[in-house]
Amino acid sequence: MTAAVAHRTGAGAAPAPTGGALELVGVTKVYGRLDAEVRALDNVGLRIEVGQSVGIVGPSGSGKSTLLGIMGTLDRPTHGQVWVGDWEVSRLSDDAVAAVRARTIGFVFQQFFLLPGRSALDNVADGLLYCGLAGRHRRELA
Ligand code: ADP
Ligand code: MG
Repeated sequence: MTAAVAHRTGAGAAPAPTGGALELVGVTKVYGRLDAEVRALDNVGLRIEVGQSVGIVGPSGSGKSTLLGIMGTLDRPTHGQVWVGDWEVSRLSDDAVAAVRARTIGFVFQQFFLLPGRSALDNVADGLLYCGLAGRHRRELA
């Protein structure tokens, strides 16, 4: 991960697929305000290589969900860097992060978060929206 690549940012950028590692550098997440501050993550660093399987364990309230949300680019850290391959997520616009997520990250949620007003087919097809595929192609693949 080079500084040159780190500067390839910008609103609406459409990142190419990345096969790189997932890396967190000095990631801190603070919820709430000064008087009721919760430091859910404090200066976390980790690197997960391609093909590596990792389990995260810890007691309730220790920050697992917060960590997964940040690793999955669903949430942003208060401080620190999140690298998905060559992309440093905090430098990207929300749209660009969504494009990185669509190409590189898959989730299986405990609750499925299906859209109740959509058919089963569209619930699958809509997951490909951020990959820039036309509606018909999305539905064919689904
Ligand atoms: P785990 O998944 O390990 O149970 P969480 O990441 O859910 O832990 O929570 C870590 C800490 O952050 C807990 O103290 C929790 O109460 C707090 N927390 C989590 N989400 C929020 C939030 N949205 N607002 C305020 N505090 C939160
Ligand atoms: Mg949890």
